[in-house]
Amino acid sequence: MFLAEVQCKKCGKKYATEAYATTCPNCNGILTAIYALEDIREQVSPSVLERRIPSVWKYFEFLPVLNKSNIVSLGEGGTFLHKCERLAEKLGLQNLYLKDETTNPTGAFIDRGTTVEVSKIKEFGFKSVCCGLSGNLAASLVAYAARAGLRCKIFLPQRVDVGKFYQTIAYGADIEIARDKEDACRNAWRWVVQGGNTSHFVMPYNLYFLEGEKTTAYEICEQFNWTPPDAIIVPTGSGGHLSMIWKGINELYQIGFLNEKTVKLIGVQAEGCAPIVETYKKGSNKIIPTNKVSTIAIDIGVREPPCGEMALAAIRESKGTAVSVSDKEIIDAVSVLAKLEGIFAEPASATTIAGLKKLVDEGAISPSEKVVCVITGMGLKYPEVTKTLVKGNGKLEKLLRRVERRKYTTRLGETKLHILQIISRKESYGYEIWKILGERFKVKLKIPSVYQHLAELEDGGLIMRSKSETFGKVKRNYYKLTDRGRSVLIQLKNIAT
Ligand SMILES: [Zn+2]
Repeated sequence: MFLAEVQCKKCGKKYATEAYATTCPNCNGILTAIYALEDIREQVSPSVLERRIPSVWKYFEFLPVLNKSNIVSLGEGGTFLHKCERLAEKLGLQNLYLKDETTNPTGAFIDRGTTVEVSKIKEFGFKSVCCGLSGNLAASLVAYAARAGLRCKIFLPQRVDVGKFYQTIAYGADIEIARDKEDACRNAWRWVVQGGNTSHFVMPYNLYFLEGEKTTAYEICEQFNWTPPDAIIVPTGSGGHLSMIWKGINELYQIGFLNEKTVKLIGVQAEGCAPIVETYKKGSNKIIPTNKVSTIAIDIGVREPPCGEMALAAIRESKGTAVSVSDKEIIDAVSVLAKLEGIFAEPASATTIAGLKKLVDEGAISPSEKVVCVITGMGLKYPEVTKTLVKGNGKLEKLLRRVERRKYTTRLGETKLHILQIISRKESYGYEIWKILGERFKVKLKIPSVYQHLAELEDGGLIMRSKSETFGKVKRNYYKLTDRGRSVLIQLKNIAT
């Protein structure tokens, strides 16, 4: 074990390397791991690393896990670095590469962090994990928890990409629905505290998780024969991945595996939520949070990025830059990446291509520069993006609608099926539906949950309001099935029987 010190980046306090701490117990700041690089150099050289199997764990000496027997792996890392001829030509570049993270076990770069986090908590002896997140991290965590035999509790915000939602369900998590990201996080933390802190609370800025993410930089440098490229472009939400790529580059430089560290780090955000880009442009070091998130790139829509200041420091120290792109530019990038290079990326990942195009157009990147775009997650995480790609092709649009309708019915869930059954017998209102759910179907819900189901069924076009009655101050809305609701109900009954 070569971990020498753990230090808080905010208050500077140091902690014993064997102590359990994910963030600073003193100020909740982000912790950083400092390694005895001199000692590592005595055991590991570039040629030793090159002989090992490609994986996050080939860099074991640079990671905080003590004992190899605690490693929980699904085969993450060791991803391909593509040289892109066709896309490079379109963008007017000569040396364009893609670091294809879509081939990780759950389809996203995040598995690099999760494997280290879950291995480390196995080492600490935890039996369960909990988080209040949706997206790639939730999907990845559930998979690694399953592999490790840990109980996994997820408080899931309602806005979630379909593919990631399917994954989270499939890997067998215990899921509770929360209103939004903040609510999910609060509930998860409360659950951990009420359980006497016997469960490990997962956040994307935990020490062990972040340490795994730096392996992206190790791999890129090794794949270029220990010479960093001129620029690395990274989708940026929490700011963790970009910061850790910079930490990785610095560690390789300090240990002497790199002769230089002249690589520009470029962070790309969506225009609908770009606090790091805005703060960078203002020349400030203190992140200015955004009020709302309005983008299809949900995974990088982080209003107040926890590692934002670290990311800003990495961008400035590396003489890089930060750029934001519109949803339209992101969708175009998804299309061009798939059609020219055979990589189907989720919108958040394609931001790097959209950002690169912008920087080339502005002259901030010159044609001969060696550029790596990190493609962080696969397109099936957010299949809806294909809807925009078939626009104008009537036959495909029609088929897609049919396929999606089928998907919607299987996604509907038992409670909504019961509500449809109740309403199909007679028009009904929220409180009455709640009562029948409990008495006839033994479904115990809180009343607001029933209204939430009703709102979702109404949004999905399966039910509609038929009339309203007012009793004193109380307004009662009645619901009835739409034609579509009726046909979905028949289909669902067929599936059930
Ligand atoms: Zn601190």
